[in-house]
Amino acid sequence: MRVPGRFYLSQQLMGTLEEGAVRQLANIATLPGICRNSLAMPDIHWGYGFPIGGVGAFTMDEGIISPGGVGFDINCGVRLITTPLQRSDLGQLKKVLQELYNTIPTGVGTKSCVTVSDHELNRIMTEGARWTIEEGYGTERDLLWCEEQGCIEGADISHVSQKARKRGRPQCGTLGSGNHFLEVQCVEEIFDPEAARTFGIETGQICIMIHCGSRGLGHQICTDHLKVLEGAAKKYRIPLADKQLACAPLTSPEGEAYLSAMACAANYAWANRQMITHLTREVLSRAFSLSTEDMPLVYDVTHNVAKIEEHVVDGTRTTLCVHRKGATRAFGPGSHDLPPGCDAIGQPVIIPGSMGSSSYLLRGTDGAMEKTFGSTCHGAGRVLSRSQAKKTISGDSLQESLGRSGITVLAPSAGSIAEEAPDAYKPSAEVVKVVHEAGISAKVARLNPIGVIKG
Ligand code: 5GP
Ligand code: MN
Ligand code: MN
Repeated sequence: MRVPGRFYLSQQLMGTLEEGAVRQLANIATLPGICRNSLAMPDIHWGYGFPIGGVGAFTMDEGIISPGGVGFDINCGVRLITTPLQRSDLGQLKKVLQELYNTIPTGVGTKSCVTVSDHELNRIMTEGARWTIEEGYGTERDLLWCEEQGCIEGADISHVSQKARKRGRPQCGTLGSGNHFLEVQCVEEIFDPEAARTFGIETGQICIMIHCGSRGLGHQICTDHLKVLEGAAKKYRIPLADKQLACAPLTSPEGEAYLSAMACAANYAWANRQMITHLTREVLSRAFSLSTEDMPLVYDVTHNVAKIEEHVVDGTRTTLCVHRKGATRAFGPGSHDLPPGCDAIGQPVIIPGSMGSSSYLLRGTDGAMEKTFGSTCHGAGRVLSRSQAKKTISGDSLQESLGRSGITVLAPSAGSIAEEAPDAYKPSAEVVKVVHEAGISAKVARLNPIGVIKG
């Protein structure tokens, strides 16, 4: 190891720590150009190459870029939309949820209501959410309340294969399967009234949380470039503790090619979440006579990405490539890329819990800038693999018991509910407590699920 590895955990969560994930944290610390520490958030669990919940920052001259530090679902992320509705307005929740389920394409390999042309796909990959807005699927305000305004620089479509394009063209505006979801939530508790006011959140309010990513396009880009970077690691004589850490120097053509293709997938994911937002607003507008302005975006975060950012390291401003793999940016007050009016507060951070536990809205802090390259957790994190969960949990009885506690779940099968059971995840309250007490983000609000659509 070139630097120490550091993870954030509480005594209560120690039992959830997998040896394999700790080894992965150590492996990251062996990579060239690693800056200060390899890091893991309390939602740490085993992933491909990097653990999920892993953060690695690398210097531009000596460092590397690794697809395993981003994940297969490039720019998987979460957004939160508010409504003027209260729980009591949702007498017809089941009907509305069914309408959302019928309108938003979900499941493996599903097609969008629009198949984009090759030219449109090029624009989506280079302009991201802006393309969607220009097509009438949202407002300029949506862009302001989105990390990077829904587009990262450096996208180069020449590094995206025909196979990736073919998978991406019919899928923009689809939720995908498994862990991806659309959830109707109710704001239960406010911890930080000033930040809540700035982010537009109130107790009792009904909100919609959307979790999805770059679909087949991102997956194919990751697969394609992994092959190239396996060769590049050999070519540049980078010793790999694990083959899954295939990587290339940030300054190499192979590394640059991956970064520019990754940007294409990231931009596609922002357009995807924006299109789903549009479909959601259409359904709610019809059901409750609302306008788009009644349903503003609180924020949109990515939790699978590598970005070139400036951070202060040992008192010196340094440009770094920060990998966040199942980790969320949590930029504090005064940082670059904060939404309007958030200079003194920090960015909104959205942390999903599970279909049966609270999700949280947090804000970025100075502590994150000092300790974690402006990063925090991305969710509760798994404790059971999908297959373990399916073996031990009955999806049917879970759906029934969630229903009794006022949570309606719509999903393609009982098996997919079991895989995503609350017991398959760490307790979100404890994970959030860790990042709050460590000062790497601060609690703003807690939201409870009342209706869940699983992909
Ligand atoms: P990932 O991107 O790693 O698949 O998932 C992110 C996080 O979403 C998980 O760690 C988990 O805490 C959370 N999550 C998974 N399913 C649900 C759900 O149905 N509802 C909510 N609110 N959160 C979920
Ligand atoms: Mn994903
Ligand atoms: Mn995700």
